[in-house]
Amino acid sequence: MVKETTYYDILGVKPSCTSDELKKAYRKLALKYHPDKNPNEGERFKQISQAYEVLSNPDKRKIYDQGGEQALKEGGGSGYSSPMDLFDMFFGGGFSGGRRRERERKGKDVIHQLSVTLEELYKGAVRKLALQKSVICDKCEGRGGKKGAVQVCPTCGGTGMQLQIQQLGPGMIQQIQTMCTDCRGQREKIDPKDRCKVCQGRKTVRDRKILEVHVDKGMTDGQKIVFSGEGDQEPELEAGDLIIVLDEKEHDVFKRSGNDLIVRLNIELVESLCGFQKVIRTLDDRDIVITVLPGEVTKHGEVKCVVNEGMPMYKNPFDKGQLIIQFLVNFPNSIPHEVIPALENCLPARPRVEIPELAEECMLMDLDPEQESRRRRSNLAHAYEEDDEHPGVNRVQCATG
Ligand SMILES: [Zn+2]
Ligand SMILES: [Zn+2]
Repeated sequence: MVKETTYYDILGVKPSCTSDELKKAYRKLALKYHPDKNPNEGERFKQISQAYEVLSNPDKRKIYDQGGEQALKEGGGSGYSSPMDLFDMFFGGGFSGGRRRERERKGKDVIHQLSVTLEELYKGAVRKLALQKSVICDKCEGRGGKKGAVQVCPTCGGTGMQLQIQQLGPGMIQQIQTMCTDCRGQREKIDPKDRCKVCQGRKTVRDRKILEVHVDKGMTDGQKIVFSGEGDQEPELEAGDLIIVLDEKEHDVFKRSGNDLIVRLNIELVESLCGFQKVIRTLDDRDIVITVLPGEVTKHGEVKCVVNEGMPMYKNPFDKGQLIIQFLVNFPNSIPHEVIPALENCLPARPRVEIPELAEECMLMDLDPEQESRRRRSNLAHAYEEDDEHPGVNRVQCATG
């Protein structure tokens, strides 16, 4: 039982989620609400970042689960990284820190998520993607105007920034640095009559580009495909990269676990006891047949595997993981009375039960799982309260009273 679920709700996951599910949820939402894509959702982007930062850290997640946000604050664990840094760390690894100086000479990376099916990851696919990106304006070659018409901004002296002084109270002033309104941070000005007509002096134009993304066999959820230099272009900067992040869609039949595929197969009781054959349609549309010979019993929940029928290995697609099959037995709800003697004859003998003379007859009831969990919670609460009076005493109550 977790104390509060706000962080889980922000990421749209259950409190029982795995760290992989957490990563996937963050990846999806962070890309969706990144200020580049959704400039009005800055607050949302921040919340997503904070929620992920806490839940992705096992220690912080434990504190949060036990005591909520309040406990994090008290434990000093509520310092958050900047959402942008977290984003860069998550998607690039080397984006911040050591590479930052190099980054300043490079245009922005463009990150796109590409949703792919398990079939595509199994068979490989070529996907066409239409994207918008900034490219240097051809007409003015990225100058923004006619040659010689571009001048250093007289308002900010070419810094792109302006200082504003705000009176906060008597004797208290605050200096705020804002973007120069004259040149809009561009550090230079172009006489309107010399301004490039194509880019309106912006030096770059938006261009639509169709890109072919090769999804290779065995690629995984979250894997990045980098198109070096295909990101946004900016004057005097090396173009950024275009990064495609794969997002594996859930499959109706197969669940992927690394290179293995997991499938749950329902079988009838007669099949479980007397053997059976089943056909499984693979992700590349082949039919494979599995056989359990008569005489062999398949138990409910039993797990078996077929080697080399899992996902292909990335860069080594002839090697595949396993197909793991879990069998779930459909038990009949009732058995006709007249067949019971015959059935009983076929099955291993039942053990003899000795009923003591003074044994009490009890009613066997159906159990409602939801009601049961409520009952356990309230019992637990009582146990804590009573702990002071009866240390070490654990009482188990009978449901029928
Ligand atoms: Zn200026
Ligand atoms: Zn231009």
